[in-house]
Amino acid sequence: MLPYHSLPEAQATLGRNLSFAETLWFHYSATKSDYFLFCHNILFLFLIFSLFPLPLVLLETKRLPGLDKYKIQPKVRLSFHEMFKCYKDVMRMFFLVVGPLQLVSYPAVKMVGIRTGLPLPSGWEICSQLAVYFMVEDYTNYWIHRFLHGKWGYEMIHRVHHEYAAPIGFAAPYAHWAEILILGIPSFLGPAMVPGHMVTFWLWIALRQIEAIDTHSGYDFPWSPTKYIPFYGGADHHDYHHYVGGQSHSNFASVFTYCDYIYGTDKGYRYQKKMIRKLKEEMTNGAEQNGVSYKTQDKKSD
Ligand SMILES: [Zn+2]
Ligand SMILES: [Zn+2]
Repeated sequence: MLPYHSLPEAQATLGRNLSFAETLWFHYSATKSDYFLFCHNILFLFLIFSLFPLPLVLLETKRLPGLDKYKIQPKVRLSFHEMFKCYKDVMRMFFLVVGPLQLVSYPAVKMVGIRTGLPLPSGWEICSQLAVYFMVEDYTNYWIHRFLHGKWGYEMIHRVHHEYAAPIGFAAPYAHWAEILILGIPSFLGPAMVPGHMVTFWLWIALRQIEAIDTHSGYDFPWSPTKYIPFYGGADHHDYHHYVGGQSHSNFASVFTYCDYIYGTDKGYRYQKKMIRKLKEEMTNGAEQNGVSYKTQDKKSD
């Protein structure tokens, strides 16, 4: 809730006119409690998990020509019924764990100093804070995920997330309730270290979930805008982790590739990439040589 009763009062306190975005924020948030604003995250999570994987469901069921070739594990196909079951399981966990976790974590949000007032942060401030959040989350998640691949962690908790050896968008948050609780820590660590505005916090929660859906999409589109993000792992990187399964000691990071590179846990993945590249080159060279010999034969028969 803003401590101003009117726009002129807000402008007088800031000593300047409000920007367009600030005026919008004033009208939207002035009479709403900070707790209510924070709880918007639950609605965002619900909408993102329900809507963003839908195009992927269409791709998986319709096998659209031109796009189907980008499926990373083409031999594994899930029916609509199987994907809908995954969605229902995730939604059950959403209402039983994710939602309540959001509701009770408000005191922590208040304690670290995430603010709702004016002025709004600049675009630069939002982007730099989001970059910090992603890097902190990626690093912490890497080590927790690696721990969860120990015998106890895997059998007791992480095994559930690996039920999908070829992940789909809906399976991004498909996990044991304990894993959802544990992985809430890396997500909150960045905002706790560099607290920002509620709008930045909303964006962080939304973007992190969209990234997780992209990473679990099962499709690697060469024209995806994420290809321009430095060290971004994406679907191909994480798909390999699911493909190898419980024995996987490769590709633990959730967002970027550098942790796995630094700690040497991407060797299997890089070896596989190298072999596939070599195979493709050999096939191309073989096809070219066959083309030459066919042409020579054609000339002889002329
Ligand atoms: Zn794993
Ligand atoms: Zn995963």
